[in-house]
Amino acid sequence: MNELRRDPITARWIIVPLDKKTDLSDFIAEPHPKNKDKCPFCYGSETMTPPEIVAHRRSGGANTPNWTVRVVPNKFPALRIEGDLNREGVGVFDIMNGIGAHEVIVDTPDHFRDIADLTYAETEEVVWAYRARSLDLRRDKRFKYILIFKNYGQSAGASLEHPHSQLIALPIVPKRVHEEMEGAAKYYDYKERCVFCDIVREELEEKDRIIYNDDKFVAFCPYVSRFAYEIWILPKKHASDFANIDRDHVASFAKALRDSLARLKGLLQDPPYNFIIHTSPINGHEREDYHWHVEIMPKLSKVAGFEWGSGFYVNPVLPYIAAKNLSGIGVPDK
Ligand SMILES: [Zn+2]
Ligand SMILES: [Zn+2]
Ligand SMILES: [Zn+2]
Repeated sequence: MNELRRDPITARWIIVPLDKKTDLSDFIAEPHPKNKDKCPFCYGSETMTPPEIVAHRRSGGANTPNWTVRVVPNKFPALRIEGDLNREGVGVFDIMNGIGAHEVIVDTPDHFRDIADLTYAETEEVVWAYRARSLDLRRDKRFKYILIFKNYGQSAGASLEHPHSQLIALPIVPKRVHEEMEGAAKYYDYKERCVFCDIVREELEEKDRIIYNDDKFVAFCPYVSRFAYEIWILPKKHASDFANIDRDHVASFAKALRDSLARLKGLLQDPPYNFIIHTSPINGHEREDYHWHVEIMPKLSKVAGFEWGSGFYVNPVLPYIAAKNLSGIGVPDK
């Protein structure tokens, strides 16, 4: 028997099997050997990228080796930083010029270690870079939203294999975020509670989908997961704006993120994945009805006609089973 589950935030439906047993081996991809030849993000290749925006470095000057995290403009940006924002209508269509910022955060100098393999301290550095770039770019009044995301593995859209994250500052609030904000606002109007806080409370009560839990963050496989082994990470205390994260929360968030990715990597043998940080738009004050979060989406099966046509997602693995399998993986405590 299959079950339909409705997401209380976006009203999207998923279909999960209640009785089908899926074999882990169904999801395990062929090992993909890595090769650092001519990699523009390795030490010594600093001049192959546009000049760096910022880097954490113990010694030496800009665009030289010995950095730990390095942020550079994307060489092939989806949007460009120069120019004024112009909007116009062409018939029924709205267009605007491609203003935005597109940056690459090189997570580590080590070509062969993704966030899953970093230490907690190294992961914290990556999170600090996310935060610093968010705070800097939000001063630009043309931007309304900052999206931080990571594509890992070729089938998840990574064109370079060296571990890196990306940041795009946008002149509009993206549709996906709009949908979440609208759904969350409706829920708030009706219940006077944040829907994300309610989901966290529910997951903590039910316990069996949790894979990471400390006093500040929780990571779990959501009851309404769209994808097999999907993981969400949320701050336990209500907060809508990722960029307001403080020192203690950075440490705890880095752990939750690293552990979640390490479990995925350990269980599914280095699967491709995307993660996104969903936060409230810029210029917003702290919102009562929105709650920042990370969605980690392993790419284990293809999104096909039914999904595109209906907005339904068919998830072959019950979320509590995904959580049980992920929890069984040992991760280093540093
Ligand atoms: Zn490299
Ligand atoms: Zn909340
Ligand atoms: Zn979201």
